[in-house]
Amino acid sequence: MFESISESFRLALSKVRFVDDEKALKNALDVLKKALLKSDVHHKVVKEFIATIESDIKQKGIGQKQLLDSIKSNLTDILTASGNQGFVYSSVPPTVVLMAGLQGSGKTTSTVKLATYLKLRKKKVLVAACDLQRLAAVEQLKQLCEVNEIELFYIDGETDPLTVAKAALDKAKSGLYDVLLVDTAGRLAIDEVLMSQIKDIKTLLNPDEIFYVADAMSGQDGVRSADTFNEALGISGVILSKFDADTKGGVAIGIAKQIGIPLRFIGTGEKPADIESFIPDRIVSRIMGEGDLATLVEKTSTIIDEKEAKRLNQKIKKGQFNFNDFLEQMESVKKLGSMKSILGMLPGMGAMANQLKDIDLENSKEIIHIKAMISSMTLKERENPELLNNSRKRRIAEGAGLSQMQVNRFLKQFENASKMAKKFAGKGGARGLANLLAQAGQNRPR
Ligand code: GDP
Repeated sequence: MFESISESFRLALSKVRFVDDEKALKNALDVLKKALLKSDVHHKVVKEFIATIESDIKQKGIGQKQLLDSIKSNLTDILTASGNQGFVYSSVPPTVVLMAGLQGSGKTTSTVKLATYLKLRKKKVLVAACDLQRLAAVEQLKQLCEVNEIELFYIDGETDPLTVAKAALDKAKSGLYDVLLVDTAGRLAIDEVLMSQIKDIKTLLNPDEIFYVADAMSGQDGVRSADTFNEALGISGVILSKFDADTKGGVAIGIAKQIGIPLRFIGTGEKPADIESFIPDRIVSRIMGEGDLATLVEKTSTIIDEKEAKRLNQKIKKGQFNFNDFLEQMESVKKLGSMKSILGMLPGMGAMANQLKDIDLENSKEIIHIKAMISSMTLKERENPELLNNSRKRRIAEGAGLSQMQVNRFLKQFENASKMAKKFAGKGGARGLANLLAQAGQNRPR
């Protein structure tokens, strides 16, 4: 997302690196203008943005720092539409959220992602299957909810979404749920029937929020559809899906600036964990290639339990970190989302993350091999890696269907990783990691 804008910001900045004159500024602004237009940002928005930056710089003096500051603050202003940020809980539970959007926009996936996000924050969540237009929709939701252990409310054979919505609300109230997410019907295009159906559900449920799921790749069309939904329904926030797949960024800017609705969440991949709250200044810092440590640290803290982290830290310090702990850690990392989205949050890694084809932690060959090796070990061996002599290693290689060289290589890597971890543990373990990351963030060249 925003790759071409990010790139052009860097290029624009380089134009005013050494020269302090009007011509250099004009060149820089031209680069910016072209890039924004190419990125599907509406021409009026571009014009206003460039004019504001120009007058800013003329006041403050031409220079790289001035230009950087001005771009950052104006972009943050544009992306900060008035309204709530992230998820806001109603004072009287359940918080009822209507999920709306066009077919294929990522509505179902986003509903499951949001449920996962809330579950990680220890909320009791119920999803209601009210997309009864498409036969496969309820089935898709059933499967996704089952795999991700999310509670789904549906009525087999029911064709009236209002009946399902009403029963789901009753259940959410009587079952003391914190949040009810209501999936509504999507269509290929906006039509009257679709709109009146959602309006009826809205009237019935009186939801706290109406989230519109917009596809980040949909350009100005996406902005227009969001506008239509907003006029008909009154949207309170937008979830921008496929943020990872888009390289332009025009939809985000358009929705915030042209429609004035806050972006609440972004979808950063296909997995349930790939969702983040949209926090304008953090996003801007990522666009400028400065990384987003705050989001990373926040994400990690919802997944890694503090007590568990302390226990592991003690084990690592004593050199007792074993294969069971290793497997557990791999499971935790998986919950963080795709490798690409994690890397994008580290300072200076944005460009690299974009180059990276998404590493799939679950299906990569190496991870499958490692799991095979660990499952070929006896329980004692898993707890005590030192037991592994040559004959045991041979047995493990056979059991995992790998060569002994592969097993040796893995064991060596594991040994090195344990040593590194031991060193790290001395510096404060998990918190040490956060501190180190934070230092890396502060020390980055500006
Ligand atoms: P719906 O018809 O609006 O319910 O759309 P779906 O939820 O079925 O999503 C349509 C397609 O987009 C699916 O293949 C999803 O995996 C994919 N998708 C949804 N959100 C994201 C995202 O944030 N990133 C990526 N890369 N793909 C997504």
